[in-house]
Amino acid sequence: MATGSTLNGKQHGGISLERGAFLKGAGAMALFFVTASATAFGAAPMEIAVRGAAPAYTIVVPEKASPVEKYAAGELQAFLEKVTGVNLPIATDAGPLPNKAILLGETRHSLALLNGAFDPKTLGSDGFRLAARPPHLVAYGSAKRGALYAAYEILETHAGCRWYASWHSVIPKKDRVAVPGDLDDVQTPAFAMRQPFWYDINKHRDFSARLRVNGYNHTGDDVDEKYGGDSFRFGGGLGSCHTFNTLLPPSVYFDKHPEYFSFVKGKRLNGRTQLCLTNPDVLRIVTSNVLERIRKDPGAKFYGVSQNDWYNYCECEKCAAIDKEEESHAGTMVRFVNAIAEAVEKEFPDVIIETLAYQYTRKPPKKTRLRHNVMPCLCTIECDFARPMNESPYAENKAFMKDICGWKTQTDQLYLWDYVTEFQNFPLPFPNVYALQGNVKFFRENNVKELFEQGDQCGRHGAFAELKGWLLAKLLWNPDREVEPLIADFFAGYYGKAAPFIREYFEELHRRQRAWSADPSHPLRIWTSAAFRALDDDFIAWAKPLWRSAVEAVKDDPALSYNVRMSAFSFDFLHLERIGMTLRRKDILFAPRTSADDARFAEQKALAKSLLDRMDEAKDIRLSESLPRHNALVAGWKSIVAPVTNAPVDAIAPQCTELEESQLRLDKPGKWGEFVDDPKAGDGKALKLFNTHFEWCATFSMGRVKFRPGAKYKIRARVRVEKERDGGEAFWAGVYDPVSKKGLGGVQPRTDAIKDSEYVWYDVCTWMPRADGKEYFWFGPGRFGKDGKSSIKAVYIDKIELSQSK
Ligand SMILES: [Zn+2]
Repeated sequence: MATGSTLNGKQHGGISLERGAFLKGAGAMALFFVTASATAFGAAPMEIAVRGAAPAYTIVVPEKASPVEKYAAGELQAFLEKVTGVNLPIATDAGPLPNKAILLGETRHSLALLNGAFDPKTLGSDGFRLAARPPHLVAYGSAKRGALYAAYEILETHAGCRWYASWHSVIPKKDRVAVPGDLDDVQTPAFAMRQPFWYDINKHRDFSARLRVNGYNHTGDDVDEKYGGDSFRFGGGLGSCHTFNTLLPPSVYFDKHPEYFSFVKGKRLNGRTQLCLTNPDVLRIVTSNVLERIRKDPGAKFYGVSQNDWYNYCECEKCAAIDKEEESHAGTMVRFVNAIAEAVEKEFPDVIIETLAYQYTRKPPKKTRLRHNVMPCLCTIECDFARPMNESPYAENKAFMKDICGWKTQTDQLYLWDYVTEFQNFPLPFPNVYALQGNVKFFRENNVKELFEQGDQCGRHGAFAELKGWLLAKLLWNPDREVEPLIADFFAGYYGKAAPFIREYFEELHRRQRAWSADPSHPLRIWTSAAFRALDDDFIAWAKPLWRSAVEAVKDDPALSYNVRMSAFSFDFLHLERIGMTLRRKDILFAPRTSADDARFAEQKALAKSLLDRMDEAKDIRLSESLPRHNALVAGWKSIVAPVTNAPVDAIAPQCTELEESQLRLDKPGKWGEFVDDPKAGDGKALKLFNTHFEWCATFSMGRVKFRPGAKYKIRARVRVEKERDGGEAFWAGVYDPVSKKGLGGVQPRTDAIKDSEYVWYDVCTWMPRADGKEYFWFGPGRFGKDGKSSIKAVYIDKIELSQSK
């Protein structure tokens, strides 16, 4: 039974036997099971390579081996030699069966040896069956890709090889490589297309093949046949998304035919437009363009017809009527794409037209069904990623779950585009690792066939990028694998002696995120910032020594040291951003510089230099999906390291500053209000104003702020009101100029319009600050009603925000 559950089953935790002691726990167990299997069941292990002995086994491939089968044989031979020093010969099945053979791919002997009720078609193009038929080992898999994955299964599970990154493998030295004498392992992947979309995986095809990644469609170049080619290519020069502007460019058509484009707020749009999908000429032109592109580039699986990457769908009478009838803007979209697909099918019956179910088209149409040759690409961009899709309390996740149920019943070709990193700042922590498995399982259960996991595709060393890419590859193959042994395996192999320190950081990071995101109003979305409350300055102070210890632990091992220092990039980036926030706040308040500030400046400079040095060392680190932001960050860091006089004021300077309630002056503390703990406030603290009066008792002098001369600013306040009754005044607030004795703007909401006891941002005023800074922000509880009583119980201020306004 032990053998069955650990070695003959489909999965076995991914721990190599040799490194069992090193990895503790699960690895040691596996070692025990192997011993037990050999003795208790009498199925002696088959030793396929023994150090120092002459090669006993021959790797046999078909006489007319495919590029994949040939490459698989070479990989198996090369890595077995690295592990044992034994170079197994490679032969074809043209000759007689050798005494001992590893039969790789579709050899003429394989099926006969496997015999019994076995239909090789069940393996598809990627699955394999690895079976001991003593004295032979059958590694059966299709010549398309399965044979290659069978070879990697031998190397990974039975020889202990690990490929963690294109630059970091762990290939153990062993005295022997053996497989259990009763081995029979059938594996097929959960998803037809598996694409963890990360820079290192995209760029290194040998590495991605070892991870059994087979989707390449977004990289745009040809995939060598030895890796299995590209079965999921998007053709016609269209790519997979946002193709309207390519298929019917406004630059060509708008002047003569504005009616082809979106009608929005009373006029046809030229810039950032979509198509008017009910216009028959639009359908005619796009259809003929798509056909033309397929004729020029036949042989791809998919051709994309989809909305541009913004909103602005057409609101003309005809489009609006259909979308109303279909209760979704996917109504016009699916009817339009169906019509194209119908035309395409006549000439290209195997082609699939792909379209997006994204943002305004994410909700499926109520009536129209997808044609069989239309594939929706459903996108999770709005969701919370701190927890699996179906466990998050966030409203958008619930909406997404409803939408996926609507699409999955219409197609057996559901393509899912998921997001697994932070895009505004690739290196910023994005603690979603413990949500990955739940999501992958959720997608499988909802009939997803192609799974695209968009990570940091622009550079290396995003936050735990290597772990995420590797782990996702494992889960896309088999979502049911236990995650913990995989994470432990990666940490041990990739970080060595630094693993415990980084793991502790990793756990706390995720713990904090999950706690923060338990509140439905705190989702982990793909654009965050360092102002993010779950990872505050206390967290920085706590984590700093861990990273120091991690770096120290591997300082004598260049390979591990590289991995640790580059993984620390994420934390150091966060740390630098937070120091910047603190100093900017001091700056804006003109607070006197203290010795603590001096230390901050010194640390800021050291961090900026260290990050820039690592960018030079790694060459291809990218800080943001937006290149202008990447460049601005780099420029900002350079100016910290070597300040340039007359440098632009705001390469990345604050356009926006938040001020905590503690910056407000409170009149008559204890009588008119008090500073209190408030779990609902962003930082857990708020200024509470009592209902016993309505004076302007909380104020902030603008003389403390260094505004940019001549610029306009906006002030907002984050406030919650505990209501007593409707029909009265909740609070009043504004900016007052005591010189001209004029209010410069304000807000005065009524209790009827307020959601009881929830924090809301209120726009207070937009104004041009005085050069002398005499004006001030004021805030008071709502004035009393006719009965002389307040309509509120109390009002709480969490913070105010000053931002430059256009
Ligand atoms: Zn229209």
